[in-house]
Amino acid sequence: MADHINGNSDSPVKLPTIKFTRLFINGEFVDSVSGKTFETIDPRTGGVIARVAEGDKEDVDLAVRAARQAFDDGPWPRMSGATRGRIMIKYADLIDEHKEELAALDAIDAGKLFNQGKALDIPGVANLLRYYAGAADKIHGEVLKMSRELQGYTLREPIGVSGHIIPWNFPSSMFFMMSAPALAAGCTMIVKPAEQTPLSALFYADLAYKAGVPAGVLNVITGYGPTAGAAIASHMDVDKVCFTGSTEVGRKIMQAAASSNLKQVSLELGGKSPLLIFDDADVDKAADLALLGILYNKANTLKCIGEICVASSRVFVQEGIYDEFVKKLKEKAKNWVVGDPFDPRSRQGPQVDKQQFDKILSYIEHGKREGATLLTGGKPIGKTGYFIEPTVFTDVKEDMMIATDEIFGPVMSLMKFKTIEEAIKKANNTKYGLAAGIVTKNLDVANTVSRSIRAGTIWINCYFGFDRDCSYGGYKMSGFGRHLGLEALHKFLQVKSVVTPIYNSPWL
Ligand code: NAD
Repeated sequence: MADHINGNSDSPVKLPTIKFTRLFINGEFVDSVSGKTFETIDPRTGGVIARVAEGDKEDVDLAVRAARQAFDDGPWPRMSGATRGRIMIKYADLIDEHKEELAALDAIDAGKLFNQGKALDIPGVANLLRYYAGAADKIHGEVLKMSRELQGYTLREPIGVSGHIIPWNFPSSMFFMMSAPALAAGCTMIVKPAEQTPLSALFYADLAYKAGVPAGVLNVITGYGPTAGAAIASHMDVDKVCFTGSTEVGRKIMQAAASSNLKQVSLELGGKSPLLIFDDADVDKAADLALLGILYNKANTLKCIGEICVASSRVFVQEGIYDEFVKKLKEKAKNWVVGDPFDPRSRQGPQVDKQQFDKILSYIEHGKREGATLLTGGKPIGKTGYFIEPTVFTDVKEDMMIATDEIFGPVMSLMKFKTIEEAIKKANNTKYGLAAGIVTKNLDVANTVSRSIRAGTIWINCYFGFDRDCSYGGYKMSGFGRHLGLEALHKFLQVKSVVTPIYNSPWL
């Protein structure tokens, strides 16, 4: 069994005071129209942290009205990009000043490791704001020398009011992967955090306003998906909906957009990403990478419990090193420390809630019933909270549910391959196409495989190689549209062509 530190350990970190629990609309915290609230739960213990306003259609209407007015008549889209950029940099500085409090909020609300949040996630979102702040005054079109007696130019204009529906696995990063480029573009927005993790989003709304983002530009509606989320996706006055979450809900978002005002849609959805390890790999390092790929990431803004859309949940190892790899992986998984996200020794926190915890355990049971062999893990840990052992299955067949479905937890399916062709075929045998990893010293193998895998991001001899200017997103049923990089900024811009006649030009 993996090492475990009990949830709710005596933490040296002061738990955060919950300051914001109401909706943020037009620059103010307000109760929901219905007056209803819902509980947000601490996954370390299963206890209630706070009751938060439950937004619904009427609250979404109010937020959209505020965002519409801020877009149609307000200063945000009209001010220079440089001025918007300065406000965004101030916003980033305020986030840095509150990084401990924000990291602690994500630790109690989502189970994210506190130290990782403080060192990586929260400074990461501040830097994301700075990155897009730097792009805000570099948004421009092109001059067109047209045929006939015409000339023209293109403008890149903000798309308008955008709705952002986000998942619970990265409450902070997901908030800014959508809001930072939208702010830089000059859009106004309504953000709906996941019902499991509403707390940091409300804090970010307050800091935006304090930094000088005008009222109505950034509104936050906490609440449930089928009510508040659906109201955003089907709203006639929302110009674009950006959704990050499951493929099933992504389909509903597209349907809602199609049957309302044909708003633009971008979808960042689920994955079942492959990691391919070839015979020439350093087995020890490759086993570390495989474990990180499903459980942990030390070099980026990620939560470490397999609740990662790009997690390498299918690991394919070439037959020459397979047995040695299995041995190493088993040893390493046993030394993996699962525990309270505030304890600096923890490398893995709890799953986000009871529903996710039960879902993962039922997949593990299913894997056993289907005939896969449990190499390590497979059980819950501790008496309180939602902790699960790092779990690795061997003898997995490609059509088993543990190999086809996105489990979104610390569960790896380990499989063997003989040839490069077989590896590519197996890697592509999925409806998803978010990411893939390749471990080899052979450049030709790396090049062939990276060109052949149908996924939005390929990592060679690394995993989770994210950065602000490297966009990522899905192929196939992992969605379309890209997070990060200038691709994400362009998602919030639309092109207008302006044409004028030109008379008596000798240059046609
Ligand atoms: P989810 O689809 O259940 O929920 C995501 C968001 O959608 C939440 O805010 C939820 O309230 C809302 N929602 C639910 N039903 C809705 C509806 N009918 N209409 C409108 N909104 C609705 O996903 P989740 O469980 O929160 O997150 C896990 C999923 O997110 C995984 O599939 C994971 O792969 C995916 N994800 C993808 C990326 C990416 O960049 N591709 C990143 C993170 C997570």
